[in-house]
Amino acid sequence: MRPLIAGNWKMHGTLREAVTLAEAVRAGAGGISAELLVCPPAPYVHPVAVAMLGQPVAVGGQDCHLAVKGAHTGDVAAPMLRDCGATYVILGHSERRADHGETDAVVKAKAVTAMAHGLTPIICVGETLAQREAGQAEAIVRAQVAGSLPDGFAAAGGVVAYEPVWAIGTGKTPSEADIAAIHATLREAVGGTTRLLYGGSVKPGNAVAILALPHVDGALVGGASLVAEDFLAIARAA
Ligand code: PGA
Repeated sequence: MRPLIAGNWKMHGTLREAVTLAEAVRAGAGGISAELLVCPPAPYVHPVAVAMLGQPVAVGGQDCHLAVKGAHTGDVAAPMLRDCGATYVILGHSERRADHGETDAVVKAKAVTAMAHGLTPIICVGETLAQREAGQAEAIVRAQVAGSLPDGFAAAGGVVAYEPVWAIGTGKTPSEADIAAIHATLREAVGGTTRLLYGGSVKPGNAVAILALPHVDGALVGGASLVAEDFLAIARAA
């Protein structure tokens, strides 16, 4: 399975910085065998997609609405992202689940809409620290997968990202054994063809070890994706 290295730029940067970062990723993408994806903030999706035109770097959104249009002030529709050049969309990131109260059912409905409009969903799952300490990590991700992935997800090339909430932006990661255990659980749940990404404090220094684990088919990278050399170093580790 071809690994996918996805950068989640979150809510960072100016337009100029976004385009500069995109150009630096583009310039370094040659010779990297993993598939590369960058997910800029919504207003920068189109200019970044223009910067990536004809290049082997895909562009994605960080969220979309479950409706295709309508009275939803401030939201972004899947067909709009597609129209702006996106081919992927991150859905159900723990920051969306926490900040916007997104439930598994909402994430599933968004994925249905995304798939119907030419976007490949990357659905995020992951336990909190309290859940891990209570020994519930596997049950939580199993339930999130069962509740968030729509029918036809695997056939549409959908991607699942395991992102323990406590590892995001903290510099902490689960042990290799713990990542491998969750990914084995996910593999059993989603079948053999769905790419499984690990996300949460992936850096150039830990990427080789994490990406070598069984059933880790790539990474979803936050902070380190804002520095082109770091993002590319992670991609070269895949
Ligand atoms: P991080 O974020 O790499 O900064 O921990 C990962 C993510 O939230 O996707």
